[in-house]
Amino acid sequence: MNINKLLKYIYCPTCQSNLRLIGKDRLICTKKNHIFPIVKGVPVLLQKSELDNQELNQTVWFDQHYSKFKNKYDLENWRISMLNRIFNHSFTKSVKIYLDVGCGATGYTTIEAAKQKKWLSFGIDISLEAMVKANKHAVKNKVDGQTAFIVASAQNLPFKENIFDYVSFISVLEHLEKDSLAVKQVQNILKKNKYFYICVPNAYHKILPLIWPFYYYNDIKIGHKRHYSIRSLNRLLKGFTPKKHFYNGHLIKFLQLFLSKLKFINDNLWWKIEKTDVNNNQSGVQLNAIYQKT
Ligand SMILES: [Zn+2]
Repeated sequence: MNINKLLKYIYCPTCQSNLRLIGKDRLICTKKNHIFPIVKGVPVLLQKSELDNQELNQTVWFDQHYSKFKNKYDLENWRISMLNRIFNHSFTKSVKIYLDVGCGATGYTTIEAAKQKKWLSFGIDISLEAMVKANKHAVKNKVDGQTAFIVASAQNLPFKENIFDYVSFISVLEHLEKDSLAVKQVQNILKKNKYFYICVPNAYHKILPLIWPFYYYNDIKIGHKRHYSIRSLNRLLKGFTPKKHFYNGHLIKFLQLFLSKLKFINDNLWWKIEKTDVNNNQSGVQLNAIYQKT
């Protein structure tokens, strides 16, 4: 979206004052003159000196990870399935403004929210590499007028209060040193009675021990700090009412992955398995939960 429209929604993440454009590619805050660059159309609304060690490490890891992403925009089945999990709820009918935190280099949640749902959609990520790529995808998908991609920290969101109707964190909370800080930020930017979608790794004691070594290896590699049970999530989400939760990534998902690897699966079978995989059985490797701000 154009910068003047964007400036209505964002503020300085350091001192919470309004931002204004200086020249073509810098934003300055009106109170304390903090300066933020705009790189290839992407505002970088964080100061490196304010990031914690985990965030600094994750920036390096994800910049490298996303640098390998190709420039083609592919909406694979698993992404469509994720979108269904985010979009297909009765409350989404009243959503007009949406934010996905940690949206990654495809920016598909933000782009499809603008394209399919006509929501004004924001995506943030700590990786500049990711946001530059996502921004290009938005242009190619002709939704750059209704989307904005910003580099920012989930623990220090650069948005004004009471802006959003819907915020999602897909595989984000487990990466953060201070997950409670991020939840507090979401509480600030969500309007009253609006919704928060969370997808996190399910607690080890809920999932099959057979999967533990793979999950543990993955946790170390990607830099996960923890897993969550619905009880620990409910404890963390102070100021929110739990509305529903469900699980995905059951044993049958591994059959689907295995068959896909062997290219021994068609779309029909893929979706058949996918539909049985998303359910209330608490042994799934991913926990999805929806909360309403009180
Ligand atoms: Zn400032």
